[in-house]
Amino acid sequence: MLKGKTAVVTGSTSGIGLGIARAAAAQGANVVINGFGDKDAIEKERAGIEKEFGVKALYSAADMTKPAEIAAMVTDAEKMFGSVDILVNNAGIQFVSPVEEFPVEKWDQIIAINLSSAFHGIRAAVPGMKKRKWGRIISTASAHSLVASPFKSAYIAAKHGIAGLTKTVALETATFGITCNCISPGYVWTPLVEKQIPDTMKARNMTEEQVKKDVLLAAQPTKEFVTVDQVASLAMYLCTDSAASITGANLSIDGGWTAA
Ligand code: NAD
Repeated sequence: MLKGKTAVVTGSTSGIGLGIARAAAAQGANVVINGFGDKDAIEKERAGIEKEFGVKALYSAADMTKPAEIAAMVTDAEKMFGSVDILVNNAGIQFVSPVEEFPVEKWDQIIAINLSSAFHGIRAAVPGMKKRKWGRIISTASAHSLVASPFKSAYIAAKHGIAGLTKTVALETATFGITCNCISPGYVWTPLVEKQIPDTMKARNMTEEQVKKDVLLAAQPTKEFVTVDQVASLAMYLCTDSAASITGANLSIDGGWTAA
């Protein structure tokens, strides 16, 4: 149970982040949801979490490309709820292109959102966690933090960076009751995956079915997409006291992808 604790989950208006925020609320944590999307839909989700789980839910519009907004999201949550005990660095975007045509601004944006935002969030949240001698930092990395695929240079560089940042922060916080881990899913069926299908069709001259079967699930031996609930359950396990000795780990949940 996470009653009395506060979880900040970046990129939680959709997909995996929303699943993790809802799972934390179901455990009794107050949550800060963050990300872009339709205003009314976000408010409906926020109010729905409060009603369904009997916790407080705050929405932060912080843009993960803006360091000051990320720091303010953490300090605002501390002011509002008294602490940030769980930080989930989850916001992420994808862009698919051969490296020599990769737009420079897309590279910068992906490194900012998928990697640097985790640094800024951790930097802001660690002092309070150290003071209280308890914290859980979880980043959504990817199988692409361990292996590569073509046409995703920025994403794969950022995710490998997350794995390195995770290990470093784990070492720095190990004696403070703080754990820092990353979760590396294979393909999870979310809007992010759905959105990359047209670009991959174009880059590889394939039909939608071919992209799903021969590209996305080609590397996933189970031939099944990972589910949001499976990822959220692993994140919740990392928040338990049973998981206190798991730190600096990169946990695969990829249907066997990186076993190959
Ligand atoms: P999604 O597109 O459903 O959600 C991404 C979230 O990030 C959204 O809430 C979006 O609003 C938010 N976001 C994007 N840019 C932002 C910004 N500048 N500031 C704040 N929020 C921003 O994607 P998802 O599939 O749920 O992915 C979540 C994480 O999981 C990402 O880091 C992704 O790389 C990782 N991941 C996904 C898969 C997969 O197959 N879906 C696999 C491995 C890793």
